[in-house]
This record gives sequence, structure tokens and C-alpha cells, in this order.
Amino acid sequence: MLKGKNALITGSTSGIGLGIAEGFAKEGMNLVLNGFGNAAEIEKLRADLAAKFGIKVLYDGADMSKPDQIEAMMRKAASDLGGIDILVNNAGIQHVAPVEDFPTAKWDAIIAINMTSAFHTTRMAVPYMKSKKWGRIINLASAHALVASPFKSAYVTSKHGVLGFTKTVALEVAENGVTVNAICPGYVLTPLVEMQIPDTAKARGITEEQVKRDVLLAAQPTKQFVTTEQLAGVAVFLCSDAAASITGTSIAVEGGWTAH
Ligand code: NAD
Repeated sequence: MLKGKNALITGSTSGIGLGIAEGFAKEGMNLVLNGFGNAAEIEKLRADLAAKFGIKVLYDGADMSKPDQIEAMMRKAASDLGGIDILVNNAGIQHVAPVEDFPTAKWDAIIAINMTSAFHTTRMAVPYMKSKKWGRIINLASAHALVASPFKSAYVTSKHGVLGFTKTVALEVAENGVTVNAICPGYVLTPLVEMQIPDTAKARGITEEQVKRDVLLAAQPTKQFVTTEQLAGVAVFLCSDAAASITGTSIAVEGGWTAH
């Protein structure tokens, strides 16, 4: 049922987005990859996925903090593939600092990339989905869309915003066969998490090992990091017919974190 559908995943050169891209490729979906990284490595990734799964795989390096680049990516993807059936808003960044020291440029970048980019991709994607009477929009929010942690004011704000946006658009397109949902992961050991460990250690005055054990995994009752494969499985499920009545909601994949 998903074979031949066209999926665009922002921030899919690394981590969770890449895991979802691989999960979608296994289902036979065509892909538009996006994100930063080494050009030769990205081209190898693109070509390998296309060859291994016999699918079309495009890459667009649009910067998710730049609305004009997002618009150009959405237009090109739609014209090259004929339309985007599945949109995954995943690109995201983090910065950890007490609010009084939080760099204002970092605040602006986090809000733009984590939250506002989903508005731009979604507004460009919805008309085609409505015309086809089928579509799936999946927003990678976070457990931090449901609960807060100190020193992550911009990130927590952006993720709560994404959840509000998810609910609003879901209501707007509910009669058009289009579902809009958020996945709220707990900690996944991707570069985004690895890079915040030193800053968290500094902000809390503890060692990096203590951050992993006493901050990150302390939040997750399973004491396990969530995996990108698990998140890809949830994203594939949200695209399936079985999930056609799931819309305007969030699925927490956080090892029990928000049950505390
Ligand atoms: P990651 O750093 O491994 O990957 C982020 C991706 O976004 C990369 O492909 C990167 O190139 C891309 N990106 C960053 N800035 C961009 C920009 N301006 N324009 C285009 N692409 C850009 O991070 P990840 O952990 O895989 O995170 C993916 C999403 O999942 C984020 O929205 C993050 O907030 C969310 N999330 C992650 C975790 C976690 O524990 N890793 C938990 C909950 C939610």
C-alpha cells in the first residue's frame, strides 16, 4: 500500500530522519532526503538507497531556517516526483544553557528550524494531499513537547509549538484523508544528543558520564535509549491504513518518561 508513495523527510542525512528514510525505503517509497553533511557521503547514501531498494531517491540541501529555500525544495520535489504524499518534519537542533545566558541567535535558530520550518513545508504540501484525498504528515516532536527540562527553553518551546501546530492542521484537513500526528521520542543516541552532553555537564556542574546515567537515562524508566529503528517502525505504522483514524495526536516513544 505504501509502495510507490513519495515521502519527503527533512533532516534525513543523520539520526532519526535517516532511520525513518531507511524504514520508508524498505516499504518501497520514493524519497526526498534533506539535511546537511559531506556532499560525497550524502550522494553515496542517496545512490545506495536507490540501488538497494529500487526506488527514486532525490536530495535537496535546503536550509530549514530559510523559508525561500524550503519553498524551492517543496516545489522541486513535487515537480520531480509528481507530488509529496508523506511529509516528515524532522530537522532539528538543540542548545543547552540557562535562560539568562541563552544566546538570542540560538533561540531564533531553534524556533526557525524546529518549529517554523514545519509551517512552511506543511503549507506547501497540503494542497496536493487534499487533491489526492490522501496524505500523511508526521512531525518529530519530542518528550519535550509534553514535559519540560531545565536549560532547554528554546527547544521545549519549539516542541510544544510543534504539537499545537500538529493538532491545528489535523483539524483543518481531517475530511480530506490526510492525517497529521506527532511522534514524541525520548532520548535517542544520535549526534544531537551526543553534542549536548558536554553543555549539560557544564550547566549542571556534573561529569559527562553522570549526564548519561543521571540525567538522560534517569528520565527513561526502561533505562534504554530509544532506537531509530523503533521510530521508523512507528512512522511506517502512522502511514498505514490501520492508522487512518489516528490524527491530531502524539505518540510518545520515550520508555515511559512522561508516565512519571
Ligand atoms: P541529528 O543531529 O542526528 O540530525 C538532525 C538532522 O537535521 C541532520 O540531518 C541535520 O543535517 C539536519 N539539520 C539540522 N539543521 C538543519 C537545517 N537548518 N536545515 C536542514 N537540515 C538541518 O538529530 P536527531 O537526534 O536525529 O533529531 C531529529 C529530530 O528528532 C529533531 O527534530 C529532534 O529534536 C528530534 N528528537 C530527537 C531526540 C533524540 O534524543 N535524539 C529526542 C526527541 C526528539
